[in-house]
Amino acid sequence: MDTEKIECLIIGSGPAGYTAAIYASRAGLKPVLYQGPQPGGQLTITTDVENYPGYPDGIGGPEMMMDFEKQARRFGADIRYGLATAVEFTPNGHKITIDEKYVIEAEAVIISTGASAKWLGLPGEERLNGKGVSACAVCDGFFFRGQDVVVVGAGDTAAEEASYLAKLCRKVYVLVRRDEMRASKIMQKRLMSLTNVEILWNTETTELVGENELEAVQVINNVTGAESTIQATGFFVAIGHKPNTEIFKEYLDMDASGYIQTVKGSTYTNVPGVFACGDAQDNIYRQAVTAAGTGCMAALDAERYLAEKTMMAEEQEIS
Ligand code: NDP
Repeated sequence: MDTEKIECLIIGSGPAGYTAAIYASRAGLKPVLYQGPQPGGQLTITTDVENYPGYPDGIGGPEMMMDFEKQARRFGADIRYGLATAVEFTPNGHKITIDEKYVIEAEAVIISTGASAKWLGLPGEERLNGKGVSACAVCDGFFFRGQDVVVVGAGDTAAEEASYLAKLCRKVYVLVRRDEMRASKIMQKRLMSLTNVEILWNTETTELVGENELEAVQVINNVTGAESTIQATGFFVAIGHKPNTEIFKEYLDMDASGYIQTVKGSTYTNVPGVFACGDAQDNIYRQAVTAAGTGCMAALDAERYLAEKTMMAEEQEIS
């Protein structure tokens, strides 16, 4: 396989990866960044971002990620389309296979692979994916204009997806498995003010009905046991995310959910020269601004690590 030797590799292209690329390129590390399966990350499938400082009027997620990318390119970051498909972290260097056919040997690796939407695991969920089942209202909501849809979840994502769909659809049912929502008060208030949104409390999905297209959703009230059918053509799952860290699990310390563990107050992992930032290592805050913050930290940590390594090598040469 063709091999390329570089100083600093960044895997992933959300706010963490792009921020790491901005800092690493300004520090002269000539970073190469592989964008992964979804260039720009999760923000490219969101609507307006209203809580990122510096955008007083809010900004579209995809637009914001284009700005991040542009800024990283401005300082010379080498941004490429491609997937890290395997890794080998050793004390003598780190090898990362790209698209199963190209190897990057990097002295420092910054992991910013983010997280992906979780699914319920219902029979038919996979079969009907793209045929009524979706995890992204912004991507697919358009196809359900004027129709009745269901959103599952009770966090900010569910509230945001349901509010977005309410603008397009005739009716939006939100299935909440407990008797309260986890979403922030402001998002809940916004959701509850929408006249075509109905929240079904203590409600879980038991079945997705439909062979080639979703036709209805069977639900159960987990307090009363009452079962009912919702006639809906769209089913949007918004129940949180899992970190995209599978390929690193042989080498890196992780928690039970797969979030990479870093040394407190830094982005150092248990492997020297490998740093983790953004949602791949954060199961608490998961915000664009915190991801960007840890991306900055990862580039600074990588810079220090590489400088120390160079210094040690020079000292060894002298002695
Ligand atoms: P969360 O983990 O916050 O919420 C997931 C929700 O899904 C919970 O309410 C949970 O229910 C529910 N859920 C989980 N599994 C199931 C299941 N099997 N069946 C039914 N319901 C289930 O994830 P989010 O993606 O909503 O948010 C992640 C982070 O991103 C949060 O910090 C959030 O604040 C942030 N965010 C911010 C936004 C913004 O500010 N614009 C927009 C979107 C997200 P339960 O409560 O019962 O556990």
